[in-house]
Parts: sequence; structure tokens; C-alpha cells
Amino acid sequence: MLCHICNTLVKSFTHTKNEILYYHCEPCQYIFKSPLYYQDFSSQKERYNLHTNHEEDLGYIAYFQRFLDFVLPHIDMPKNALDFGCGRSSLLASLLIKSGIDCDYYDPIYHPKTLDESKKYDLIVSTEVFEHLHQPRKVFEDLIQRLTPKGYLAIQTQFHPNDEEAFKNWYYHQDPTHIVFFRAETFKILAHKYHCEYLMDNDKNMVIIQKTKGI
Ligand SMILES: [Zn+2]
Repeated sequence: MLCHICNTLVKSFTHTKNEILYYHCEPCQYIFKSPLYYQDFSSQKERYNLHTNHEEDLGYIAYFQRFLDFVLPHIDMPKNALDFGCGRSSLLASLLIKSGIDCDYYDPIYHPKTLDESKKYDLIVSTEVFEHLHQPRKVFEDLIQRLTPKGYLAIQTQFHPNDEEAFKNWYYHQDPTHIVFFRAETFKILAHKYHCEYLMDNDKNMVIIQKTKGI
């Protein structure tokens, strides 16, 4: 099996508890479940329907605010933004609009018809989305193409511990819809591959990448 991010030959390991086969790429630190465990759209939707985050929930607002408090001070003020994979809620988009940034939102399950194929964005945010993607490199490339020159892509997904034993005890991959796992290094390699600048991360779950050339 070759790494879906950097095409290097990957190692595999099996989790004895759930018997799921995982692949681990040393150079880019990407870990992914065997594609046999990837779920179809309807099972994913059933699982997402269990999420009961309400837009007026202060904890939910604070959760997104922490993301924006990391991202916005580090970038030039964007004129517009896209929340890619917003889920059922457009709360993050509303918070961006309150910050003075015109914001669209898109979700393949809940808001599938909201994406304007020709529109470019100064900022694309994507929180708790990448761990669900069957083809993260393709989506990354697609998002970079939707950015204006020097636009920003800000992603939130939990960084895995990069140690197989620690990984087995890690909570994040227990969710059956979480199938692929990243670290800062993985995003550095993706950024380089698509001629972007890797601006920064918080060493935990957030990264900011800037487009530097047209792709
Ligand atoms: Zn790799």
C-alpha cells in the first residue's frame, strides 16, 4: 500500500481491540484505516444525525471561537470566506460574518447545493472534516484551487500521537466515521506539494496554510 498523501510505501498495524487494519506513513506521519472500513454516505449520515450541537449552545459557540481566535490574528483580514463541511449548522459562518467577513458554507450531506464552482475565497475554514475524508489529498487540492492568490486555508482536526501504542489508546479513531489522521508534518508535506506556504499550527489540532502560486 502506498501513502495516499506522499506515495511512500507504508507500514501497517492491526488494533487488537477492534481488529481494524491501519496504515502508517513514516515520512508524512499520515495514518489511515484500511479503505475496507470506509463508510458509505448513508451510514455516515446516520452517525452525523446523532450530533446534537445547537447554535445557541454557549459551549458550541466557544468551541468555534477558539478556532477563530487562533486563525484570525495570524492572517490578513479576508473579505470573504467559505466554511467547507459545516455539518448541519452554519454557526461558524455566522461567527465569521459577525467578524465582518462575508461567509458561505457548504456541506456534502446537509447543504450540498450551496457551492458556487466559480467563486474564489480569501479564507477557507474546515473544522473536524478532514478526518472523515476518503480522499483528503484531492479535497486539499480542490480547496487550494478555490482560494484567491495568497488566500488562506485553516483546518482543524486532532493531531494523532504518532506512536502506534499511544495511537491504539487514542479516542479519536474510535468514531467509525473518522478514517484518516494527520499531524502538522502531513500538512507541511501537502502544502509543499501544492506550492503553498505552511504558516503555522498550534501543535494540537489547528493549521494555517497560505496559497502562494496559482494551481
Ligand atoms: Zn506519506
